[in-house]
Amino acid sequence: MTKIKTALVTGSTSGIGLATAKTLAAKGIQIMLHGLEDNTTGEAIAAEIEQAYNVKARYFSADLSQAALIDDLFNAVQTEFGGVDILVNNAGIQYTCTTVDYPADKWDLVLAVNLSAAFHTTRLALPFMQEAGWGRIVNIASAHGLVGSANKSAYCAAKHGLVGFTKVVAIENAELGITANSICPGWTDTPLLNQQFAAYGEQNGVPFEEAKSGLIKTKAPYPKLIDPSAIGEMVCFLCTDAAQAITGSSLPIDGAWTAQ
Ligand code: NAD
Repeated sequence: MTKIKTALVTGSTSGIGLATAKTLAAKGIQIMLHGLEDNTTGEAIAAEIEQAYNVKARYFSADLSQAALIDDLFNAVQTEFGGVDILVNNAGIQYTCTTVDYPADKWDLVLAVNLSAAFHTTRLALPFMQEAGWGRIVNIASAHGLVGSANKSAYCAAKHGLVGFTKVVAIENAELGITANSICPGWTDTPLLNQQFAAYGEQNGVPFEEAKSGLIKTKAPYPKLIDPSAIGEMVCFLCTDAAQAITGSSLPIDGAWTAQ
């Protein structure tokens, strides 16, 4: 009998992470959900996934800016599932400000959550994958892992760093049945963007909905928000046998943003 695979999706209480967790669960993969939210919120999402997809799902709350809590997350993964086959480093935050005024504590936080956490989860997940001779690591980077934008110094540094880190993990594990890839989404329909849409609306004197299309068009030829499930579907494809030679790649899903 083939072993049921387990995925840990960080930041899976919302947006891209939640859509990815559901897409993986729909393929029969067990899910360790994770986020900053309290246990009541997270466990309700886990119960919903268990009921909808008939797979085991558990939730663990941990602030990924604290490395010690990432150890606790992996202890929970080991206790609940005995290990992890698929790691999706998705949790991320944004803070926008010019470089000269960028608060140092915000810089540290954005780097910790968007980059260092992926190092810690990867170093803890790899031994399980190496022992199994199979593993998939998918890092949710961003178009900002490939190009820069004003006022996003920490985010762009973290996402470019994540793309580089992914390449190293891919090279080190290429002969071991383990792939590592980055997905680089453009404007995706999640709560992460609300603050930026609100600020754009205020600056340009337009209502929220108009601000959405206005801001999207400043960067991407494709004029709509991307559905988070499109990212989840790509994660699932990267977990197939057909994708076994796709490793070390940075895959844009960005409406031609970085094609320009
Ligand atoms: P979201 O705000 O909907 O979800 C973020 C998730 O991260 C939540 O589950 C939250 O609990 C978790 N999180 C936040 N801070 C955390 C912390 N300190 N410790 C642990 N977990 C924490 O965001 P989203 O848009 O779904 O973003 C998911 C990923 O996709 C992020 O890495 C983001 O940078 C990336 N991304 C998003 C877009 C977009 O347009 N939405 C575009 C490109 C890349």
